[in-house]
Amino acid sequence: MRILVFSHYPDLAAELVSAGSGLGDVSLLATSDMREAVSGIKGAREILICEGVESGDQETLVELISGLASDFDVILLSGDRRGRELVGQVAHRVGGSSAVDASGLSVSGGNLIVERMTFGGKAIAVEELALPAVVSVQKGKFKPLEEGEPSIREISPPSMERRIQVVERREKPKVGVPLDKADIVVAVGRGFRRKEDLKLAYDLADVLGGVVGATRPVAADLKWMDEEVWIGISGVRISPKLLIVVGASGQQQFAAGIMDSKVVVAINNDPKAPIFEQSDYGVVMDLYEFLPVLTEKLRKLKGV
Ligand SMILES: Cc1cc2nc3c(=O)[nH]c(=O)nc-3n(C[C@H](O)[C@H](O)[C@H](O)COP(=O)(O)OP(=O)(O)OC[C@H]3O[C@@H](n4cnc5c(N)ncnc54)[C@H](O)[C@@H]3O)c2cc1C
Repeated sequence: MRILVFSHYPDLAAELVSAGSGLGDVSLLATSDMREAVSGIKGAREILICEGVESGDQETLVELISGLASDFDVILLSGDRRGRELVGQVAHRVGGSSAVDASGLSVSGGNLIVERMTFGGKAIAVEELALPAVVSVQKGKFKPLEEGEPSIREISPPSMERRIQVVERREKPKVGVPLDKADIVVAVGRGFRRKEDLKLAYDLADVLGGVVGATRPVAADLKWMDEEVWIGISGVRISPKLLIVVGASGQQQFAAGIMDSKVVVAINNDPKAPIFEQSDYGVVMDLYEFLPVLTEKLRKLKGV
């Protein structure tokens, strides 16, 4: 079986190579700006470098991957927002089957078998996809390989008529460590009454050296925070050493995003909130009373 893998992020590309190597021969696609970053990735048969295409150019990437697709049975992309976006577009172009967020992959009867979480992470769905298949793979499920030196092959950019013109590029303000890489996360929910009150969570995160994430309503509905910091099945999946969940009920769509956290502390004024079932430590109290005291005590303890 021939597998093409691509991710905008080299660490995820290494995981995809590992995922694909269980299925067959892997070709790793990289754009010119990724040449250096992918050079240390092991386990692929070859690295296809496309000079003249940048990883930020989604329109050309769709064209490039779709153009290569006829040489491959399976295309694996990463489970981040941009990777998932490619899945639909490429599958549509090549007339293939598709799935997002695979956590397990195998082959049976000439089809691709994909395992992925369902019911907010409470069950695993096993789906059979006809080839060619375009699938995004969940982060952290496959360990990068340590052996297997790939050959390098230069390929030409696609010739295409552009339908999207980039009129302006603006750099986003840096918000510190990305949520999915942070060791300490404070996750805020709708228990906060006003946007300004989130300062209580930022103060706690500051003293702990952590970052602040949110439930989907806080980020997507109330728009109090950037959409990139919403945690859950339709957002970011996090795996911090310490997660403090404040004023969030712990509905399964949120809970699916925190399953890999090591220690979970929940602060909620409702003793029946489902978040307590997923927590190692629970504080049943009004967050407005508890957070200032906790932050102050930690400040004193740390001498800051
Ligand atoms: C298809 C789909 C996908 C979804 N994906 C996601 C996702 O990826 N991530 C996500 O988060 N949600 C997602 N949701 C929404 C999800 O179902 C919940 O609605 C959401 O997680 C609830 O957010 P919340 O905990 O902030 O709010 P609520 O459920 O309203 O919980 C607020 C909590 O705060 C507590 N509280 C209130 N006041 C205080 C106080 N003063 N002190 C302490 N505690 C207090 C309450 O007891 C309550 O438990 C999705 C929904 C759908 C349908």
